[in-house]
Amino acid sequence: MGTQYVKGESFFTRINKVTKQYEYLTEDIEADVIIVGGGVTGAILGYYFSKSGVNAVILEKSRIAHGSTSITTSLLQYELDSNAEELKKDTSLENIVKSYKLGLKALSEIENFIAQYGNGCDFKRLDSFLYTAKDIEVKEIKEEYHVRKENDFQVEFIDKVSNPSGFDVKAGVLSKNGGAMFDPYRFTHSLLDASLSNGLRVYENTEVIKVEYEDDAVNVETVYGYKVRGKIIIVATGYNTSLFTNRDFGVKTTTFNIVTKPIDQIEELYKNVIFRDNEDPYNYFRTTEDNRLIIGGEDLDFLHGIPSEAICNESYTKLEQRIKTLFPNLSIDIEYKYCGAFASTKDNLGFLGKDPKNNKLWYCLGYGANGILFAILGGMMLSKLYIGEEDEDLKLFRISRYDC
Ligand SMILES: Cc1cc2nc3c(=O)[nH]c(=O)nc-3n(C[C@H](O)[C@H](O)[C@H](O)COP(=O)(O)OP(=O)(O)OC[C@H]3O[C@@H](n4cnc5c(N)ncnc54)[C@H](O)[C@@H]3O)c2cc1C
Repeated sequence: MGTQYVKGESFFTRINKVTKQYEYLTEDIEADVIIVGGGVTGAILGYYFSKSGVNAVILEKSRIAHGSTSITTSLLQYELDSNAEELKKDTSLENIVKSYKLGLKALSEIENFIAQYGNGCDFKRLDSFLYTAKDIEVKEIKEEYHVRKENDFQVEFIDKVSNPSGFDVKAGVLSKNGGAMFDPYRFTHSLLDASLSNGLRVYENTEVIKVEYEDDAVNVETVYGYKVRGKIIIVATGYNTSLFTNRDFGVKTTTFNIVTKPIDQIEELYKNVIFRDNEDPYNYFRTTEDNRLIIGGEDLDFLHGIPSEAICNESYTKLEQRIKTLFPNLSIDIEYKYCGAFASTKDNLGFLGKDPKNNKLWYCLGYGANGILFAILGGMMLSKLYIGEEDEDLKLFRISRYDC
């Protein structure tokens, strides 16, 4: 068996009925753009390319949205995982502020999609709250607040006195409208539904096993021997890229989520804000439409795969203790526990664009802080690049920015 990238029973695939099944490939076909991977990233690419009138196909080795997409917490935030002051070691303040602004742009794009196609994925725009319970970190939080304030982001500084959270907060940055959340499984299917009428083709249970390049074409072989010939291939395979390149794009960890049973007494405040502490690695939590809490974090090394059950259980237990400490008055039962690979990058950004040595090999990899928002930016910018319009901001995400 190959490396496992996701482990445990996913809440989002469990609560949703399979909305649509796609056939597997049973003939040789041609397409201009071959998208490999049918997670949220592949679906986003499929949406933007087909909307631009490009003949695109998605090839998914398993089921749509059953990889990392099925277990993402789906916190959509413009801010990055590390604070600006720390990121300045590896990138410029200008780039950090630009990426915050691009995050807001990606959030607006999702809102536009929802406005056009309906909210079939429990999308909710809300405030995001970065906080610390440690006196020693107050200075760092203040610095982050000032960076955002001076660059016109809508932020409020929260101190012990103004803290509305009900748990220990020494300092925090509240970003008004700075985040959102949704159901990733249903969002992925909504994107595909919207794209089918634009000519997107989607095949499930169709693993790509070989890729060969010619001067003016790329040839892909799938698991049952059928072939796809295209002009370019875009890798949207999440944290497993080994079939396409030896490049190591980021530092892999295993990250964990637990989901409670529905809790009637959750106060409105917690439904309208997404919370993240300033620890390293950090914890974060959100609510769901049916009043559950999802808490995540407690990352461990990924090394050659997800750690053993016993080691994973230690992280789940820590998350359970954490949520019970935050909410001592709630009766909390845990219903789902799962984990998966995650990849961090030095500047917290993903990789979008062409392989430096191969013009026909493109990547859309939502690594770093905000995988889903980076994928939205990838969909927007790569579909433009394909028709010859290079977005200046694509440089932030270029593949060759680090020696990997
Ligand atoms: C616990 C956890 C919490 C997270 N929380 C967040 C969050 O809050 N916000 C956020 O933005 N991100 C979060 N992430 C990261 C998030 O998972 C990613 O941003 C996003 O889901 C990745 O989607 P994807 O489509 O790129 O990858 P995937 O969903 O893994 O999709 C890749 C697909 O490619 C397919 N594939 C692989 N190889 C082949 C092949 N050879 N042929 C055909 N198909 C192939 C796989 O089967 C898979 O379906 C989290 C990750 C984890 C593990």
